[in-house]
Amino acid sequence: MKEVRVRFAPSPTGALHIGGVRTALYNFLLARKHKGTMILRIEDTDQTRFVPGAEEYIIDSLKWAGIEIDEGVGKGGPHAPYRQSERKAIYQKYAQQLVSEGKAYYAFDTEAELEAMRERLKAQGSSDQQYSSGTRMQMKNSLTLSEVEVAEKINSGVHYVIRLKVPTNEEIQLTDLIRGEVRVNSSQIDDKVLMKSDGMPTYHLANVVDDYLMKISHVIRGEEWLPSAPLHVLLYKFLRWEKEMPQFAHLPLLLKADGNGKLSKRDADKAGFPIFPLNWTDPKTNEFSTGFRENGYLPEALLNFLAFLGWNPGTEQEIFSMQELVDTFSIERIGKAGAKFDIHKAQWFNQQYLRAKTDQQLSAFLFESLKKENINCPEEKAIKVCAALKERVTFPQDFWEHGKFFFNAPTQFDHPLIAKKWNNDVVKFLSAYQEELKAQPTLNVESAKMLLDHTAQATGIASGKIMQMLRVVLTGGAAGPDLMQTMDIIGKDEAINRISFALENFNVKIP
Ligand code: GLU
Repeated sequence: MKEVRVRFAPSPTGALHIGGVRTALYNFLLARKHKGTMILRIEDTDQTRFVPGAEEYIIDSLKWAGIEIDEGVGKGGPHAPYRQSERKAIYQKYAQQLVSEGKAYYAFDTEAELEAMRERLKAQGSSDQQYSSGTRMQMKNSLTLSEVEVAEKINSGVHYVIRLKVPTNEEIQLTDLIRGEVRVNSSQIDDKVLMKSDGMPTYHLANVVDDYLMKISHVIRGEEWLPSAPLHVLLYKFLRWEKEMPQFAHLPLLLKADGNGKLSKRDADKAGFPIFPLNWTDPKTNEFSTGFRENGYLPEALLNFLAFLGWNPGTEQEIFSMQELVDTFSIERIGKAGAKFDIHKAQWFNQQYLRAKTDQQLSAFLFESLKKENINCPEEKAIKVCAALKERVTFPQDFWEHGKFFFNAPTQFDHPLIAKKWNNDVVKFLSAYQEELKAQPTLNVESAKMLLDHTAQATGIASGKIMQMLRVVLTGGAAGPDLMQTMDIIGKDEAINRISFALENFNVKIP
């Protein structure tokens, strides 16, 4: 196999979509697996779509995700520059070569003339209104004008483009590593613009020239580029680079969770989950979008989730470290079918990765929140809180969100439940339990439980009947971590205080 050199080639037109992160990941996995090179190329030749900050955003996102770049923008390398807007002269050269070899031509048609052509063809009932082998001879270009006229036009500085002279009725064939054989008749391809009037190349020319010059071995990109692939193959042929042509792998689309259509930002917004890796504020509209990072997704969990969107290892194993992904990944195991993007699965991965951490590691997340809340907490307590909540959290911030009551007495209670369950037995039990607690020098999980059993015996009331109310008294809510563990963490005095508060207030408020 020739040296694996892959590239992630985003256009800086806005925030990086999560599908782009998957594309980058698959490229990265292939590069690492074969000890190859991962390149970041910024395809910014469409100046009208350029968005300031997007390039930095892409770089920051990849860094956060742990997708390392070996060569490219922000990194440098033997094929620099890696930003296409800085490579104009290179594309110009190849476009000229194609013109002088009769494989491309100058076209001088104005917008109005192009529009008139489309109208004319429409009126003739033609289903195809493209600038192509069928229409090019009716247009204003270097194939229809004399050499002198062409030279005059170019010298006078009028705007012109360079178009590819696509052959008529020629079969173009390529083998996609995921989709298999792809055959297209050249008559279906229009005479694509290669160089625009602003002197910038179009995506097609720049992409092919750069993949060749940067010695790319595999082009792994989203399925939306599959229709462009035959045109690219034609360009490789016209430039006599067929032998160096990379292998293509077009990744399946990311679909909505129900499989009905492409996943869009609007779907994500509606369902309340992020679609961008990091927070992003669109500089044009000021629209703010939250990121996976800021929502509490761990990068390693997100990558594990993304790896499975289109690829599978062929085994039952789901949790893969980056190294395991590198070792197991192969293009052959990428499917053709669209991949359903189920955010619950991403959350499941996040839970698994959180659970795999030690309580001490998790306490760092809790400390982050506590710092923001200006709460001091001994490490031992933070670790215990994390241990108690570990099985119940999805995101790092949940340790605080679900565990506030470990630090502050609850101020909100489940009133409907209290109305239903607060009765004389509960009052009697909790009063007695409170007295037992007071008499106890210190409280821990065992003694809390022992006193509970003791109170049950002494009052003749089964503890099962009051447990839910005890939970509401101590935590405010009806669900949460182990109660005895909770008592151990908040401590004896606080437990007594909370019971007192309930005995004084719940009775009065509840009719
Ligand atoms: N610039 C293209 C994009 O934004 C890259 C497509 C490709 O990888 O060839 O997706």
